[in-house]
Amino acid sequence: MIGICTKCGNHAWDKTVEGDTVICPRCGNRWGFRKLPLLILTGCSGVGKTTTAAEMIRRNVDFAVLDADMFYNIMPHETEKDYYRQVEQMESLSRNMAQTGKPVLWTMAGNLDKLHKAYNSRFLSAIHCLALVCGEEELRRRMREGRGITDETWIQSSVEYNEYFQSHSRIEETSFETCDISGKTPAEAADAVIAWVAAKREPDIVFRKGTREDTAAIMALVKTAVAHMEAQGIFQWDDLYPTAEDFEADIDEGALYVGVTGNQIAVAATWNRSCDDEYGNGAWRFPQKPFAVVHRLCVHAAFQNKGIARKMMAYIEAVAKTQGMEAVRLDVYRENPHARRLYEKRGYVQTGEAHWRKGTFLLMEKYL
Ligand SMILES: [Zn+2]
Repeated sequence: MIGICTKCGNHAWDKTVEGDTVICPRCGNRWGFRKLPLLILTGCSGVGKTTTAAEMIRRNVDFAVLDADMFYNIMPHETEKDYYRQVEQMESLSRNMAQTGKPVLWTMAGNLDKLHKAYNSRFLSAIHCLALVCGEEELRRRMREGRGITDETWIQSSVEYNEYFQSHSRIEETSFETCDISGKTPAEAADAVIAWVAAKREPDIVFRKGTREDTAAIMALVKTAVAHMEAQGIFQWDDLYPTAEDFEADIDEGALYVGVTGNQIAVAATWNRSCDDEYGNGAWRFPQKPFAVVHRLCVHAAFQNKGIARKMMAYIEAVAKTQGMEAVRLDVYRENPHARRLYEKRGYVQTGEAHWRKGTFLLMEKYL
């Protein structure tokens, strides 16, 4: 559905995805879609994925729970290519389900290495994997007594896969967390997985203009974000910048926006039409087009890694576009890999560098 161009009918797997926008390479048509994370419940066979999933379904959870084994019944599964096709179908189904607002949690033992390589992964906001693990003796017992498995080769391979999950944190590009369900009942295992999913969900955010009443909350937010950055060795902001006066000036100009979830401000950012002289260093690709400049994007530490900065950027780009802007410019701290990745994924291209008190910043631009 969302992969088909409504303008030229191109249904090939050749789309470019920038943030929450699909672009048809044949006709240039662009359309928005809902981007949600893909959730994977993995672990060796016999560990209890299906039992846990069945328990979750009984709870009426607000995400879909599906078993990737369904593809074995309807698709070939002999070659590596076959498995790639299965993963593509799985991600395609997930991205379509996402349009209803529901993410999908798949139970799936293998093929984790293919998740990020699949074409359809571009339609997903993130791929989160949780591996169920348990002690070796318990695993053997679960397989023999719980499932009546007598094939020793199968049991041994499961024991080894279980050990792999316990002693590693990724399979190729796909990283995973683990949840030890030794001694846990299916209900307890389901509780643990549901809590994990809740932590991965992207909260609903309402965007609005900031007011003077928001200043204290914004400064508190900045404090958490600075501490969070410093803990990662990123020394981009400090007591000298940005200050309450900076944000109040943005607010008075009507240029500051906040994203609110519940009653809490989770993100703040400013966009206007002014930039420092150092922006003259950029080889801007669209110098004649009216452009917006984004400043001081900041996510509360408690809301990091939930797609909030991406949503704020999508919102700012949409607002700027409705106000006649045709490009967005910004600068990003060179030593902040997370921020750089965010902008690159949204289609921003580096045009030059600027040097300020804290070091080197990359100048970037996106055509809307
Ligand atoms: Zn098209």
